[in-house]
Amino acid sequence: MSAARIDTAVIIAVGSELLTPHRVDTNSLFLTGRLNELAIEVHRKVVVGDDRDRLAQELDRGLADADLVVLIGGLGPTDDDLTRDALAAAVGAPLVERREIVESIRERFAARRLAMPEINRRQALVPRGAEILANPRGTAPGLWLAWQDRVVVALPGPPRELEPMVDGLVRARLAARVAGHRLARRIVVVGGRAESYVEERVQPVYARWRERTPVVAATILAGPGQIELHLSTRAPEPPEAEAALDLAVADVEAALGRDVYSTAGESLEQVVGERLRQREWRLAVAESCTGGLVASRLTDVPGSSAFLDLAVVAYANTAKTDQLGVAPALLETHGAVSEPVALAMASGVAARATAQVGLGVTGIAGPSGGTEAKPVGTVCIAVTGQAGERARTFAFRGERTFVKRQASQAALDMLRRMLDDRG
Ligand code: ATP
Ligand code: MG
Repeated sequence: MSAARIDTAVIIAVGSELLTPHRVDTNSLFLTGRLNELAIEVHRKVVVGDDRDRLAQELDRGLADADLVVLIGGLGPTDDDLTRDALAAAVGAPLVERREIVESIRERFAARRLAMPEINRRQALVPRGAEILANPRGTAPGLWLAWQDRVVVALPGPPRELEPMVDGLVRARLAARVAGHRLARRIVVVGGRAESYVEERVQPVYARWRERTPVVAATILAGPGQIELHLSTRAPEPPEAEAALDLAVADVEAALGRDVYSTAGESLEQVVGERLRQREWRLAVAESCTGGLVASRLTDVPGSSAFLDLAVVAYANTAKTDQLGVAPALLETHGAVSEPVALAMASGVAARATAQVGLGVTGIAGPSGGTEAKPVGTVCIAVTGQAGERARTFAFRGERTFVKRQASQAALDMLRRMLDDRG
């Protein structure tokens, strides 16, 4: 008899501490990554406190609608460790003491010249029929229980115990049950467009994907100043999955054109750096409201000295005049937050460096300093240089750091688009 295939999983993280602000369930992220690599899709994750009834409820729910249920934590020896009890109840199997577990726990204590406390015997109680997953780093062994055509895996909570158990024991057992399918993912990132704009353009593309084999699924995620499309597919062989994604990425690029800036995990600053390098151009940056964030992001790119020449943070008007040569009359007539000043900052900083491209960013990050004509979030960005010049005024929303982040994103995206222009 061959065991049923495992396609879907539910993860249940157990522990009241995970429902406080002091502890985060990180194990499920690790586990989801490993399961996805095996083409197992996690369709629900829950965190439950140390509560017998609620845990039983979640277990029943998981067993009803997933091929695999992974329980994390609650395998310790104390009264609030309920995972073994709840599992035994859910599958209707009695708890039986396993001598080999008692012995291995006793040995762990003996190795530290300690006697095993009697309560640790509880960790040797397992639902009848369960297989034991050795835990070399702790007292709580894991459990693998086949029940009907489902599998339940219980793992200890501490990440340093759980992680090697997943990679050493659980992975291989699951791999035998996934029919060799592979899950592949790709992230396409779109700059300078709203979520609804992107969604509208890719909707017809999604419709076509549903007709294809293998099916490509997509989710859309909005971030500050960018939209991500997460594409995934599963196929018997990795090359087949990758080929389906290549085709899907090409569809998205055809639908969105130059709005797409990344299809292989590159950051916007990396893309800008790469374009500058291709043209053998150097960049100079003058920032006010972003406080150096654009320069900081550009210098996150290894080898940024190849394309970044000078970066100045000019906050005060006098600094804009003294350091960048912005004419006082320009500041007086248009105000510091204006397109003419952004342009003057860009060309001023480029002139003070050996740069073919200049960038100027000036704006109001808030919370104070806004006016009716120029509310908080107004940011003027200019790019000047060999490929011409352009300036734009943006109206960002949100608190200070969020405005800064959006402004840096918009500035890098303007640079990217200008560097993309032919000629
Ligand atoms: P042990 O016998 O080692 O205590 P256990 O299975 O009883 O194992 P818990 O007592 O539930 O594990 O958790 C132990 C610790 O592991 C928690 O205090 C927490 O720091 C960490 N932990 C538990 N669950 C998670 C989780 N889902 N993600 C990250 N850390 C976790
Ligand atoms: Mg616990």
